[in-house]
Amino acid sequence: THLASLTRTRTTCGYCGVGCALEVLTRDGEVAAVRPAKDGPVNRGHACVKGRFAHGFLRSPERITRPLLRRRSGLEPVSWDEALDHIARGLWAAVNEAGPDAVAAISSARATNEENYLIQKFMRVVIGTNNVDNCSRLCHSPSAAGLTAAFGLSGGTDAFEDVERADCLLVVGANPVEAHPVVGARLLQRVLRGARLVVADPRAVGLAGYADVHLRPRPGTNVALFNGLANVLLTQGMVDEEFLRHRASGLPELTAILAGYPPDRVAEITGVPAADLIAAARLYGQAKRPAIVHGLGVTEHLHGTDGVRTLANLAILRGAVGTDRGFGVNPLRGQNNVQGASDMGALPDLLPGYNRVTDSVARGRAEQVWGTEVPDHDGLRIPQMFAAARSGDLRALWIIGEDVCATDPDTNQVIEALESCPLVISQELFLSETARHADVVLPAASWLEKDGTFVNFDRRFQRVRPALVPPDQARTDFAIVHAIAAAYGADLGCPTPAEALAECGRVAPVFAGITHQRLDREGAIPWPCPNAEHPGQARLYLDRFATPDGLAHLAARPYLPPGESPDDDYPLILITGRRWAHYNSGNMTRRSGTIDLDPSDHIDMHPADAAHHAVRDGDTVLVESRHGRTTLPARLTEEITPGQLFCTFHFSSSRANALTSGHADTVTSCPEYKVTAVRLRRT
Ligand code: SF4
Repeated sequence: THLASLTRTRTTCGYCGVGCALEVLTRDGEVAAVRPAKDGPVNRGHACVKGRFAHGFLRSPERITRPLLRRRSGLEPVSWDEALDHIARGLWAAVNEAGPDAVAAISSARATNEENYLIQKFMRVVIGTNNVDNCSRLCHSPSAAGLTAAFGLSGGTDAFEDVERADCLLVVGANPVEAHPVVGARLLQRVLRGARLVVADPRAVGLAGYADVHLRPRPGTNVALFNGLANVLLTQGMVDEEFLRHRASGLPELTAILAGYPPDRVAEITGVPAADLIAAARLYGQAKRPAIVHGLGVTEHLHGTDGVRTLANLAILRGAVGTDRGFGVNPLRGQNNVQGASDMGALPDLLPGYNRVTDSVARGRAEQVWGTEVPDHDGLRIPQMFAAARSGDLRALWIIGEDVCATDPDTNQVIEALESCPLVISQELFLSETARHADVVLPAASWLEKDGTFVNFDRRFQRVRPALVPPDQARTDFAIVHAIAAAYGADLGCPTPAEALAECGRVAPVFAGITHQRLDREGAIPWPCPNAEHPGQARLYLDRFATPDGLAHLAARPYLPPGESPDDDYPLILITGRRWAHYNSGNMTRRSGTIDLDPSDHIDMHPADAAHHAVRDGDTVLVESRHGRTTLPARLTEEITPGQLFCTFHFSSSRANALTSGHADTVTSCPEYKVTAVRLRRT
């Protein structure tokens, strides 16, 4: 009787990119429990503490439930009509006075595919600009660029179940035990069943204790490390010559540059002992089915795309991609729908399905479906949007579900941008740091209140279903985009999420076979899926790669130093990242009393550095970079290498991103969160 009174809703977790299938049990409009679905394609009956218990935020008294408009006295509640009217007038004024490129939108990796599709359509069709981007800019844009250059498409190369067959795992710049716990557990299970493990990370992350070899490179030296590993593969004959002859290009150029990366020189640059480098290369090079899994420790660098390319070199040299002899190169996505937000074209240079806005054929297909012209030049990336706002060129900025003041680098510059922009719209669950700087704040729905789909880290579409209705006047992002379009005098079509995904399939043939109806029947479908009969392609490459010549492209890239290095003034290096009980800016997990497990932030430092600075465990320290300062309690731990510090960006009070710099990947503008020169002293 007790269970019979509960309503069950099958949905997909809205936290990290693993994509755990969950069963949400509700009673009288409240979540009673969340259980992992036994038949979830990735999670198979498992879920982590966030997916299971971090739902208390839904009924937080701090939830925004009415639109807010900035008056002289501050943000005040108004009706939806008044908020929408203000937005429509502001957008009209911006477009009329300065043209469509004076408007920009930052879409969200937490929003559904259908919402992302609708937002980019609004910007391109209604406003007439490609100024739309999403937060993958700040995390995995180098993975997308690097994998596209190497193999032709931006997704991870394989289905996660293939990892079960891997006999050597190379886990690089990722901490899946904390950031992607269900994947972390499956990787560990594989290791306990006999797979060899190489971990490359400056910190002693969770998996490092189980590693055959743990490489601890100095932050910012990945390209040298990967070139060093490739040098050993090549010089010790651990390459797949047949594969290199028929399915890859660029070997002569790579061979020439690798001559400059013998283990001894790599040891000098990276701090990794030559013997460890050779041991790691042999484990990867002698495995029958090696696998690479990487995270933001590879991407969030001045040369993040080069890092991805030189990492991909290893898989190509071994013929371990696009064959059954390996598990390619697979990025672990931090947020639930990072993959999907980019798949749907919430990017300034790419239409849905990764078609370039400059490609007249792809643009023509979109124009035919949308019935209007699409601009043919790239729009602004997120950092460029902030720069344009500061210079007065951007007149309206619409931010959907992103707390840019907490998560984007160099907070002071971000705040200046928001204060310089005449119209800032924030669509949010809570009065985040960003919402506090907005002119209009719109109450949005959470992932437990939405209908649509997400795409997880291994390219699987899965359904998202509402277990609850949004509180009071809060609306889904899908409904809000439609409402703003209507207030602006436009009709976006596709009135339901199911119709939006179906329309996306007409713009992007790679998704054409994926519909809500099929997902309701079949559960999960990976892309590419070009038609209704196609089962979806779990391994991205079969007999040819998606590059113009069908080959995998090796990359000859030199090591170049990071944007900042330690010096006499700023002798320590700060790395930022995540902890297991929290998610991104922490706006949801910090308000979920249901998982009050890690309630405050701290900065990790090695006991040797602590002794040098006369800091004891728990002391408050002032941390300063060239960009800003903050104070945090110190936690002494040997998990961190001497000379380095670590803190998260989960707590707005700790202002970690006041410290980080404006240095960004030279190809994609992804910020260099992983290397900031700092100094500290006890307060
Ligand atoms: Fe959600 Fe990721 Fe945890 Fe799975 S591992 S329950 S997707 S946060």
